[in-house]
Amino acid sequence: MSTPDADPAATRLLTASSVRALAEQLGIRPTKSLGQNFVIDPGTVRKIVRTAGVQPGETVVEIGPGLGSLTLGLLEAGAQVLAVEIDPVLAGALRETVAGRAPAAADRLTVIAADALTIGDLPAEPTRLVANLPYNVAVPVLLTFLEQQRSLQEVLVMVQAEVADRLAAPPGSRTYGVPSAKAAWYASARRAGTISRSIFWPVPNVDSALVRLVRRDPPPSAASREEVFACIDAAFAQRRKTLRAALATWAGSPQQAEQLLRVAGIDPASRGERLDIAQFAALASARTAVQGTSSPHGGSR
Ligand code: SAM
Repeated sequence: MSTPDADPAATRLLTASSVRALAEQLGIRPTKSLGQNFVIDPGTVRKIVRTAGVQPGETVVEIGPGLGSLTLGLLEAGAQVLAVEIDPVLAGALRETVAGRAPAAADRLTVIAADALTIGDLPAEPTRLVANLPYNVAVPVLLTFLEQQRSLQEVLVMVQAEVADRLAAPPGSRTYGVPSAKAAWYASARRAGTISRSIFWPVPNVDSALVRLVRRDPPPSAASREEVFACIDAAFAQRRKTLRAALATWAGSPQQAEQLLRVAGIDPASRGERLDIAQFAALASARTAVQGTSSPHGGSR
């Protein structure tokens, strides 16, 4: 499968023709249910790796390596790569693809055939997550990794442009919602560029964008992360209502919601889309202080 290069140690990134040839050889028909749109442009791969700021020797986790387009770029930059792939055929083929196209880097790759949503501990502690995420599970996968992989300091992911907007939205903006508030618990998020549809095979029917997240400490709160997230879920479940009304079930009654909002210093007539993560944390803290810690809605993501 490998053709001799001028420099036999050089990495040969995947191109449009090699992606198709590899897929055909493996009998892969990209599926929508697994968000399988593969990057076919080496220039885009190098742009993602450069934008991510990957450093030689650091441990990077990639979710959904697919045929290896981005994996090869991460290895080319000198990273140790943990690649988590749910599709057993793709996971099984990745090692050989890398051995053929980046032989000098093959020992820096660890392939993990698993669902990123349920993976738990990784064999090493990654400091960076870089991925072209499967679009249908991008937000839950991202939040799961930020929660479970505490060593992660920075993230650069390609997601659907609309999801990138939501993740990076500040309070008060039209796109601010549950993903923005929950991501803000872990990290600051910013859009980091747009990606043309034409660099994928098959071409998706949505636009894509890069988002960068930099980990920071969560805001101070007497409530647990689960309790804060339950408060966020409740506030946005009825986003057009005032918080006094939207949080009535979460708090026990509209009166109790009003009391907790006042304890947290929040106007009961405001809406959830106005609250930043520190205010959600203060509100969940107020509930803990006034009503105790048990949260019937706790544990949601
Ligand atoms: N990184 C490759 C690229 O850029 O060409 C492929 C990206 S493709 C958008 C998403 C990949 O994620 C696919 O390979 C798919 O099989 C994989 N995937 C989907 N759901 C997954 C999950 N829950 N856990 C791990 N991998 C998943």
